[in-house]
Amino acid sequence: MEFDVVVVGCGPVGALTANLLGARGVRTLVVERDTAPHRQPRAFSCDDEALRIYQQAGLLDEVAGDMHAPRRAEYVNAKGRAFATIALDEVDFGLGSGPLHFFDQPRLEAALRAGLDRFPHVALRTGVELVRLSQDDEAATAVLRDLDTGEETPVRARYVLGCDGARSTTRVAAGITLTGTSYAEPWLAVSGDVAPGAVRVPHTTFVCDWRRPAFVSPGAFDTYRLEFMLRPGEEPAAMTDPATVARLVAPYVDPDRFTVTRAVVYTFHHLVAERWRDRRVFLLGDAAHQMPPFLGQGLCSGLRDAANLTWKLAQALGPGEHDALLDSYEAERRPHTEAMARTSVRLGRVFLVRNRFAAFARDVVLRAVQTVPRVRRLVRHFEFKPLPALPDGRVMFPQPEVVVGGVRRLLDDVLGPDFAVIGPDVDTVTARDWSGPRARFLRVVADGAPRTGDDLVDVTGTLTDWFARHRTGAVVLRPDRFVHTDRVR
Ligand SMILES: Cc1cc2nc3c(=O)[nH]c(=O)nc-3n(C[C@H](O)[C@H](O)[C@H](O)COP(=O)(O)OP(=O)(O)OC[C@H]3O[C@@H](n4cnc5c(N)ncnc54)[C@H](O)[C@@H]3O)c2cc1C
Repeated sequence: MEFDVVVVGCGPVGALTANLLGARGVRTLVVERDTAPHRQPRAFSCDDEALRIYQQAGLLDEVAGDMHAPRRAEYVNAKGRAFATIALDEVDFGLGSGPLHFFDQPRLEAALRAGLDRFPHVALRTGVELVRLSQDDEAATAVLRDLDTGEETPVRARYVLGCDGARSTTRVAAGITLTGTSYAEPWLAVSGDVAPGAVRVPHTTFVCDWRRPAFVSPGAFDTYRLEFMLRPGEEPAAMTDPATVARLVAPYVDPDRFTVTRAVVYTFHHLVAERWRDRRVFLLGDAAHQMPPFLGQGLCSGLRDAANLTWKLAQALGPGEHDALLDSYEAERRPHTEAMARTSVRLGRVFLVRNRFAAFARDVVLRAVQTVPRVRRLVRHFEFKPLPALPDGRVMFPQPEVVVGGVRRLLDDVLGPDFAVIGPDVDTVTARDWSGPRARFLRVVADGAPRTGDDLVDVTGTLTDWFARHRTGAVVLRPDRFVHTDRVR
């Protein structure tokens, strides 16, 4: 077999997956039906966990340099009065960056594709689509069609990853169905470039106007994104008419100085594949799950899939029996994705109230409950967002800045791509006693304590606090930086 893994689809999830596999030395073929990258912005926001995953792929600077970090997000009523504010500039979940970033999807995808050039063992073939799949004990066979010549070629690989989006051929070929609901209300999404001084609403705002709910926000690179719910009877073709778009955007940006790059009508889905694995075939991203975008977590969830599965595949390509490890992909990812989707749906319920009296009641109740400090903190500090946690007490380890050899860096950049054993007691827990997979061993020392050149100096105090709070002297970190805390007392 020329390739260990075939990745079907080079959207953002497929491109990231191939980068993570490439970084682990996995021979990977990526096939993409389109000849040019998707030029239309769809996903708009990502979170701190997504940035940590781009960092694991060695692409943080390439990707994050382009992003815009909003300072706050407001929920306003029909009169434009804020009834809830998320103070994003007051929030730090400790994962290495701020909690929310806006990006330009075409630029993001270009950076991810350029990242593939780093790996001679990763090949991208565009204008090629998956048409059929079969599997046996040794391998999966993906039948690929060259869209130019019509020629079909079978390619055998140990695993096939369906990153081919909502209408996934991989999912259909593996006989996996989707369950869930699709939303009846269509939305108009408008993106465009905004001239200096043309912005009328400078903050990320959920306009909870019962007559027409909308989301508006400045984005990266002087862009602006607006989404408007259609009213019953409104026709998609009429809504994308330039005069209608100009009228709708006018309260938020000056239409004369706003160049529309995209105006499309679409509907949301809340769907999940009944299985995410069929023997040698796995589903990731929109192929496995689709959720409403009110929490901006559709793509982020796909990125988490990639981070969770790729290190396990790299292990599984080595000697030994790894079926349970590969099964843990869906077992770990499904509950978290479902929690994100549920929170998105709940936010939608707050946002999408379509009745004047219900909207009035919502505004009054939400203002009243926020006089309780705990509830106010829950909203203001974004604590309603599901934590980066997996079943059975696995949580994402914090990522502070540390100093090693006199250089200040983010923790993951020091740990590298493999397992890591870190903690204040690591000189007593040594690599000599370790029979697990390849790992780095790093001793954590408090700032100012005696140290050797390889020690990891905890200049922010975050790690020292974490180990004291969990009453342990060393932990094993997985390559995706999750750690079992149920074993830590
Ligand atoms: C209006 C809107 C706003 C959104 N906002 C956000 C947001 O703010 N934040 C967020 O996280 N998410 C958001 N999302 C969701 C996000 O866009 C998707 O979750 C994300 O694009 C999915 O990425 P993907 O790589 O899984 O799939 P896709 O981007 O759909 O990529 C799939 C790729 O596979 C290719 N392909 C398909 N079939 C085949 C085949 N048979 N052979 C070869 N190639 C194939 C396609 O050409 C495509 O390039 C939003 C979605 C919409 C519609």
